[in-house]
Amino acid sequence: MKTTVERLQGSRQELFIDGQFVAPKRGEYVPSYDPTTGAPWYEFALAGAEDVDAAVRSAQAALKSNAWRRMTQTERGKLVRRLGELVLEHADELAQIECRDNGKLLKEMRAQMRAIPDSYLYFAGMADKLQGDTIPVNKLDMLNFNQREPIGVVAMIIPWNSPLMMLTGTLAPCLAIGNTVVVKPSEHASASTLALAELAIEAGIPPGVFNVVTGDGAVTGDALTCHPGVAKYVFTGSTGTGRKIASNAAQNLVPCQMELGGKSPHVVFSDVDIERAVNGVVSGIFAAAGQTCVAGSRCFVEAPIYERFVEALVERTRRVKVGHPMADDTDIGPLALAAQLAKVQHYVGSGVEQGARLAAGGRRPADPALAAGWYFEPTVLTQANNDMQFMRDEIFGPVVGVMPFTTEEELITLANDTEYGLASGIWTRDIDRAMRFARDIEAGTVWINTYRSAAYMSSNGGMKHSGYGRRGGFEVMREFSRLKNVVLDYSGAMQDPFVIRLR
Ligand code: NDP
Repeated sequence: MKTTVERLQGSRQELFIDGQFVAPKRGEYVPSYDPTTGAPWYEFALAGAEDVDAAVRSAQAALKSNAWRRMTQTERGKLVRRLGELVLEHADELAQIECRDNGKLLKEMRAQMRAIPDSYLYFAGMADKLQGDTIPVNKLDMLNFNQREPIGVVAMIIPWNSPLMMLTGTLAPCLAIGNTVVVKPSEHASASTLALAELAIEAGIPPGVFNVVTGDGAVTGDALTCHPGVAKYVFTGSTGTGRKIASNAAQNLVPCQMELGGKSPHVVFSDVDIERAVNGVVSGIFAAAGQTCVAGSRCFVEAPIYERFVEALVERTRRVKVGHPMADDTDIGPLALAAQLAKVQHYVGSGVEQGARLAAGGRRPADPALAAGWYFEPTVLTQANNDMQFMRDEIFGPVVGVMPFTTEEELITLANDTEYGLASGIWTRDIDRAMRFARDIEAGTVWINTYRSAAYMSSNGGMKHSGYGRRGGFEVMREFSRLKNVVLDYSGAMQDPFVIRLR
């Protein structure tokens, strides 16, 4: 892989279409910014509608090419596995690229890049397990069966937080099943997806099977999600953008898979070990500076321990070290975008104005070494309630609102009082209570005495405005394939069509 942080610095990155890196037809490039300094560090191509069209056409041609269509499932699986092995071989470079592009911690990115290959291996194994079924119809000498086949060209739009991890969960099964793909990474973190394109060549993935069009959402993303040659859209991002894409998909009558925002409830009952629950809540909201879709941003604490819990949470929060994402002792790095920092500041201000108490954080760090970057201190707002704007909107930053509750019934009402339904967490030793919560909460994932514990073998996704469709596990085989019903009459005779036999 030629792409490294050193080579990216000051470089100009092209589009990846039909197995080659090519310049955008209009010759436009835009900068990507380093979140630790706010300075541009490389330029990437701005794909226009004509480039997107070329990428989709290449993916359509690849779908029909013998190189892909006539490849055995086992061979396809081996290619997907090989791509995963190459990610592992280049884990350190890829981790550095993502860290530089979106400001996430280098140690976290290293761990992620080393974990991603396992998921390629898992999905590679699906290549030869796409089974159909036989239907016993009420007719003699007739075989009626459903077979599963690839859907076609799948368009994937991914966000800037953990681009390769987000991409893997859909790209690996999509390829294993025999689809072809056009990816549009976020303009704020495109480099690792382009590096993956290089690895795709090395893995032997045929030209056109995997394409990357970089650019911004309004131009490149819109062109991709309006293109009539796409058979399915896979989107990860905000609920607002999800709505636009779903409406484009409606025009083309194609299905979508939507992984959208969240405002996840994180619940603490008074029977828990407070230190353990505090660690859970801190990791649920402050990991990745709160820039995770499952962030536990609304914390509900049972009234008898509310004061004690808040005190322990504030004390732990003050010990979270904000620093450079490449430093080993940093707990949280900068926000990925200047706009994200402004958004966080706005919501903290509005929370205080609406009556929440600022118990920790709430400002940019005082350290002059961090002054140029988009850093923000982990923030705890207490005396929060569901009417406050910061408790309703997804902030996507290191801000948690804490509020007390007294009964389970009240808790469920409060926790479900949100347009979102992505994830949830509960800390209690009472298993009956935990199971009642799991039954009643409107969220696609429920974590009991843990949080952010994700596995590619389980199927996850949202409810309500957090989206639809599932990722991970065997469910993806249904998501990325379509059924065809085949009927075979082996009686050797065609009945007289005008003779109707009554039973
Ligand atoms: P956006 O929805 O703005 O962007 C996500 C992706 O969509 C980016 O690639 C973006 O491109 C693209 N995009 C933007 N506008 C359009 C458009 N009109 N047509 C097609 N594509 C478009 O989200 P953010 O970048 O602000 O990311 C943060 C959001 O993503 C949060 O709300 C978060 O919850 C959500 N998210 C959800 C996850 C989940 O698994 N549920 C995971 C991660 C994030 P560009 O950036 O180039 O403009």
